[in-house]
Amino acid sequence: MILKTGWEIKDGVLARRGFPEGDFPLHGFTTRKVGDFTKEEEAATFARAIGAKKLLLLTQVHGIEILPPLPQNHLKEADAWEGEPEKGVFMGIKTADCMPVLLFDPCSRRVAAVHAGWRSAVDGIIPEAVGKMTAGGARAGEIIALLGPALGGCCFEVGGDVFEAGVRHPEFFRPTQGGKFLFDLEGFCLKELSGAGVLSQNAFASGLCTRCNPDYFYSFRRGDSGRLCSFIGFAHEN
Ligand SMILES: [Zn+2]
Repeated sequence: MILKTGWEIKDGVLARRGFPEGDFPLHGFTTRKVGDFTKEEEAATFARAIGAKKLLLLTQVHGIEILPPLPQNHLKEADAWEGEPEKGVFMGIKTADCMPVLLFDPCSRRVAAVHAGWRSAVDGIIPEAVGKMTAGGARAGEIIALLGPALGGCCFEVGGDVFEAGVRHPEFFRPTQGGKFLFDLEGFCLKELSGAGVLSQNAFASGLCTRCNPDYFYSFRRGDSGRLCSFIGFAHEN
């Protein structure tokens, strides 16, 4: 697997490097090496490894609801976190093909973690999350966006119903045999970010396909039951 410039895998976690030190949040996208986040114990082991006093996870339902990163929201039904997490509290989302999107504004310290499967993406979860950040004091033009591994346009076959739902960006659907389409979820999400005011030079996508890289990632389409975790938050020491 070849990583794009600026990305690296360290201790089993994929992350984008090159941001200034200081108030920038800790973030990353786990690989299979780190564990399976459907297993509570493996999630807890990872939380300890990154020094989290709490790793908040959701019961994800492919909707567009977004919750603030409060301990009482752990495992509640929603598909994104947004807010200013207390130091040591990490916002996590689980994926195996859906697009994990991490957002942060270095000035206001607003942070978001979004689980963007095709349904949430076409229903507008990305502009919803950016809107919450700007309502909380972030400036869209300052937001950094990181898009992790997801089912790529090489593998993401969808039906006409998905095309209909996402038709506002038809350029990300490539027709195949039998009325189906190959969906470029990453391209779609990048376009949604730009529509919400995030600058293209501040949006970084890993370009990695979960299905094509079985040594690194779980893929639901490939038949895996495991889940990866994408996380963001501020360390205790900050
Ligand atoms: Zn692929």
